[in-house]
Amino acid sequence: MGKGFFEVPIAVNEPVKSYAPGSKEREEVLKTYKQMYAENIEVPLYINGQDVKTGDTATMVPPHDHKHVLGSYHRASKDDVMRAIDGALEAQKKWAAMPWEQRAAIFLRAAELIAGPYRSKINAATMLGQSKNIHQAEIDSACELIDFLRFNVQYMTEIYAEQPESTSDAWNRVEYRPLEGFVYAITPFNFTAIAGNLPSSAALMGNVVVWKPSHTQVYSAKVIMDVFREAGVPAGVINMVMGDAVMISDTILADPNFAGVHFTGSTGVFQGIWKKIGDNIHNYKTYPRIVGETGGKDFVVAHPSTNPKQVATALSRGAFEFQGQKCSAASRSYIPESLWEDVKKHLLDDLKSFKMGSPEDMSNFITAVIDEKSFDKLASYIDAAKNDEGVQIIAGGNYDKSKGYFIEPTVILTEDPKYTTMCTELFGPVLTIYVYKDEDWSDMLKLVDGTSEYALTGAVFSEDRYALEEAIIALKNAAGNFYINDKPTGAVVGQQPFGGARASGTNDKAGSKMNLYRWVSPRLIKETFVSPTDYRYPFLG
Ligand code: NAD
Repeated sequence: MGKGFFEVPIAVNEPVKSYAPGSKEREEVLKTYKQMYAENIEVPLYINGQDVKTGDTATMVPPHDHKHVLGSYHRASKDDVMRAIDGALEAQKKWAAMPWEQRAAIFLRAAELIAGPYRSKINAATMLGQSKNIHQAEIDSACELIDFLRFNVQYMTEIYAEQPESTSDAWNRVEYRPLEGFVYAITPFNFTAIAGNLPSSAALMGNVVVWKPSHTQVYSAKVIMDVFREAGVPAGVINMVMGDAVMISDTILADPNFAGVHFTGSTGVFQGIWKKIGDNIHNYKTYPRIVGETGGKDFVVAHPSTNPKQVATALSRGAFEFQGQKCSAASRSYIPESLWEDVKKHLLDDLKSFKMGSPEDMSNFITAVIDEKSFDKLASYIDAAKNDEGVQIIAGGNYDKSKGYFIEPTVILTEDPKYTTMCTELFGPVLTIYVYKDEDWSDMLKLVDGTSEYALTGAVFSEDRYALEEAIIALKNAAGNFYINDKPTGAVVGQQPFGGARASGTNDKAGSKMNLYRWVSPRLIKETFVSPTDYRYPFLG
């Protein structure tokens, strides 16, 4: 920026549309859904601005209707991945030198394209490819992605404005250089917004990116790439490759120009990537940034003083929206004996009223889980719970994959607070509840803290301020996002920066300035106006 201290528009959260019966947006998204369902599309690799079709393809299907084919995507070879790296490094020369206001304009434009002309398309793609109901698609693929793009632009300018002190004879400046090399973005299936944010946040800060979406999210990833292109992201700045995740990662992590990984996904995969980075550390030109947001075993804790209906509602929404496939989803809950009958009644009433089926029928609250692997895993835990001692399934417990991967929202009651489904991330519509004796409140908090390796989200319900304060202290390391009298899901960009510690990630808080700092390598420039001409200090006499 040479000729002005430009101010970007103040970021505001995109309002969530209602999709109520009779609304214009409902009509539009259903029309787009039907059109897209009837098409059969091909998704190429995007390498250095080119659409690359390799002929090695895999199909894309709606999880709720898995015999129907939405299209196919092309899979990369090792050479394709290397071409993506070369394309990124070539693009870096111009992109890193581009004035920031141009980068800001591109991504602000992307936000407006999603808010307007692409809204129904990105929502319909997320409904079809990831089986989100319209509300879940709207808050994710439209609103959250728009928010990431708008807020990150504002945060970027706030970072750039952070400058050191200077004196009259020397001017100190910090420039926030992009990393020297390229960034590898690896994204999960469960949030279209995360898929868009991980590559774009690094690119916004002047980096070039090779992006590998999840194989079960490619359908909406294509819409993201189309938006980026139309918004003016130049060739090679964000390259998208799909295919064998291990081969792609091995190829990328072996490259000397690898400068950082922006990962969201499961803990095991992230730890594997970290290890490979360690193995290659002597090859890199720079120490790579390692940013990863990973799994969770998120809790809802109720104190005897709380309102049982509020707890039940937090569980109905927090555990079962998007079939529990949110890293923040409540999957273990601790309820006092004195409230249990009430909580149980409200929760079971809610579950009875849930409708399950295709997201095209907007009365369905629950749709399918993402794929057969996830379905089979969930079914095996449910089957085990049917046979294990001290464990009772009090709701759900059925599943059917004949048309779509449908798992009934399931509630397990356990006498053992360390039963496997209290500790292991299942990533599906399965909630396990442990009922504790009211007088064991303090011990129960210790149990919550020590039960799982994760520390992503958690919620406490209490009307008693002393009990609340005790929980805040006892659980200070048990969650990176801690909710009081609210469900543990639904973080909003600009309001609740998101991320957890322990095995849940590096806690670099997506949707905040803290994350963007990871994608820059500051250079301090000191300029002395009149340089000294004598080495002797006065004290030398
Ligand atoms: P996943 O770990 O299976 O996949 C994530 C990404 O890693 C995908 O792109 C996948 O193709 C890739 N991948 C898989 N195996 C790999 C390998 N061996 N080497 C390199 N890359 C590999 O996760 P998922 O099922 O897509 O997403 C669900 C997981 O993500 C859950 O554990 C959830 O808690 C977590 N998640 C965390 C957050 C957060 O902010 N903490 C947000 C969303 C999801």
